[in-house]
Amino acid sequence: MENLELAVRAVKEAFPGMKLLEQEPMSAHSSFRIGGPARVIAYPQDVTSFSRLCSILKEHHIAPFILGNGTNILFPDEGLQNLFLVSTENLQKIFLLPDGAIYAEAGVSLARLSMFAQENGLKGLEFASGIPGTIGGGCIMNAGAYGGELKDVIESVVFLYVPDQGLYEMLNADCGFGYRQSIFQKTGGCLILSAVFRLEPDDPEAISARMRELVEKRRAKQPLDLPSAGSAFRRPEGHYAAALIEGAGLKGFRVGNAQVSEKHAGFVVNLGGATSHEVYDLMMEVRSTVYQKSGVTLEPEVMILPPDYHLEDNGPPAPRNRIFPVNGAEDASESG
Ligand SMILES: Cc1cc2nc3c(=O)[nH]c(=O)nc-3n(C[C@H](O)[C@H](O)[C@H](O)COP(=O)(O)OP(=O)(O)OC[C@H]3O[C@@H](n4cnc5c(N)ncnc54)[C@H](O)[C@@H]3O)c2cc1C
Repeated sequence: MENLELAVRAVKEAFPGMKLLEQEPMSAHSSFRIGGPARVIAYPQDVTSFSRLCSILKEHHIAPFILGNGTNILFPDEGLQNLFLVSTENLQKIFLLPDGAIYAEAGVSLARLSMFAQENGLKGLEFASGIPGTIGGGCIMNAGAYGGELKDVIESVVFLYVPDQGLYEMLNADCGFGYRQSIFQKTGGCLILSAVFRLEPDDPEAISARMRELVEKRRAKQPLDLPSAGSAFRRPEGHYAAALIEGAGLKGFRVGNAQVSEKHAGFVVNLGGATSHEVYDLMMEVRSTVYQKSGVTLEPEVMILPPDYHLEDNGPPAPRNRIFPVNGAEDASESG
């Protein structure tokens, strides 16, 4: 706690002009519209100040919690007083590389990325146009929909690794991408800064038509008019979470103002003023009923943050498989 206060002071001194929100309600930063005040959220202007900010935090033994669009997190009503949140909102660069690949920073939304690809006659990101998260959040969990996943189109990812403060570039094959998972998620401490996407050329009109079709599908099936965090549970192997929940008679089931969506049983929605405790209790009830009825254990896909959540700044060594340090960081690929 003391370290956190010292870190806040040091960041204010080092970046007098940086946007810094204190005691900011997380409900304003969450697609669930739930969450009490966070001690601090910082908004570095660019990748360089992002890295500098993280090294100041490291000096105070604070590991930053990275905030994308907040579309996959349940923030606690009690707030987050132990965390230093850093937003990727200003990391918005996106451009075509000379070889036709797309370079985009972590804060670029998946919607903007897929639109940029379409405008440049590049196919492969149509699936991402309706996912409300950022590239950073998407890389962490290998976001996907309608048969497509980021792992199909990512060539490489650049990240800052908190424990050694090194900048690394990792090729797709080494990112450990699987169903809604990545090596970044497993290892922890990896702050995604940017990614390169390799796509195929196609007619922009045809790409646009496919994007419209998928967005329509989403509108027809998902409760997009109510706050949620998308699918509440991961897809269990050999099953669909929504079908199991519906089969257990839980469609429309409520705890307070949290509800299993009547439109899509895989979504938990906030009917207005739901608390994080209500969402949590609802999810646990769904989990135990589905287990009793089908023998299948549902695992949350949404990240559930407890109020006392804190991060260690000294994690395991950086994931080492064919990682190429950039910007003069120590060559991690040689050791280990
Ligand atoms: C209506 C709705 C529909 C959805 N549909 C889909 C779907 O079809 N497919 C799908 O996969 N998901 C879907 N989601 C979930 C969500 O949009 C994705 O998981 C998205 O990838 C999360 O991105 P974000 O920027 O919002 O991440 P956040 O929610 O802000 O963060 C999620 C996690 O990623 C970490 N993180 C974020 N950015 C970084 C970074 N730069 N570096 C390191 N860590 C980072 C955070 O610390 C946190 O642990 C849906 C959500 C909603 C609300």
